[in-house]
Amino acid sequence: MAALFRGYRNFYKRSNKHVELILVSCRSMASKTPVGFIGLGNMGTPMARNLLKNGYPVIATDAFPESCKELQDSGAQILDSPAEVAEKADRIITMLPSSPNVIEVYTGSNSILRKVKKGTLLIDSSTIDPAVSKEMAVAAEKMGAVFMDAPVSGGVGAASLAKLTFLVGGVEEEYNAAQELLTCMGANVVYCGQVGSGQAAKICNNMLLAIGMLGTAETMNLGIRLGLDPKLLAKILNMSSGRCWSSDTYNPVPGVMEGVPSANNYQGGFITTLMAKDLGFAQNTATSTRTPIPLGSLAHQVYRTMCARGYSNKDFSSVFQFLREEGA
Ligand code: NAD
Repeated sequence: MAALFRGYRNFYKRSNKHVELILVSCRSMASKTPVGFIGLGNMGTPMARNLLKNGYPVIATDAFPESCKELQDSGAQILDSPAEVAEKADRIITMLPSSPNVIEVYTGSNSILRKVKKGTLLIDSSTIDPAVSKEMAVAAEKMGAVFMDAPVSGGVGAASLAKLTFLVGGVEEEYNAAQELLTCMGANVVYCGQVGSGQAAKICNNMLLAIGMLGTAETMNLGIRLGLDPKLLAKILNMSSGRCWSSDTYNPVPGVMEGVPSANNYQGGFITTLMAKDLGFAQNTATSTRTPIPLGSLAHQVYRTMCARGYSNKDFSSVFQFLREEGA
């Protein structure tokens, strides 16, 4: 009931039309009405499947019909375009590669905002430029809808197990309504502040992740060149002050750990192209806010170079292999 009043109050600020108040009230109350899902790739498919598992009917679409097959087999209704999804659902989640795809899906010719119903809650879980999230929020508000950014931390495994962490930015009064859906797909849902702040938090985390991975890869490479056994070196780092997630949970050196991409020719995991993209956002936002990020900029250069040298689709921990080959 509290969620109902929060949604009501928030929309009342934007419009005095009685009929619109009723629409937003219905959305806030409607717990198991259909949820729209756009972008059925590596992450989107398992996320949408977890909504289905929680009893939410899912109405979905993707630019490539073959991407929809798996979710259709799990019971989702597949439509032809984001506009059609927007006609039928008043809560929509998007999980798309990057900023241009989000702009297209929200504001393009067959987009969500062409047909969006007033009071609709739009949650974008793609990792994109925070400035684009803010633009989409303004465009959505003009149509009487609410846009929130909710990028995720955690990869395909976490998406399948509903263990993602959602970093949410947007109007605080709508947070409970977003949380209701996000908890079906994640273990943690964190409210970060105004729209765009989920993206800001995500970009900061990934910049540190890239710096940590690059540092671990070059440290391991140096130790190996100095004649140390990689497993022994990893053990020493992990009991010492050099320890970090990239050394103790996701070690980039083949043979050091089981069950990580480095043990599987760098397949699976988080691909280098996506890391380069996130570092590009970090670079853009740092430039526009005149914030020095020397290590983030260096990591961006390294990951961009890797993309140009054929590492695009390998896990980002393949930076170890890249350094080995560069030094060979
Ligand atoms: P993906 O490329 O596997 O899936 C994206 C899907 O969006 C594709 O199926 C594509 O066809 C669809 N799409 C693109 N443009 C579209 C359009 N105009 N209309 C409809 N569908 C469209 O990407 P992913 O790995 O699922 O990642 C999605 C987002 O999640 C990215 O922003 C990524 O940075 C982020 N992310 C990914 C991971 C990961 O491990 N893969 C982890 C955390 C965050």
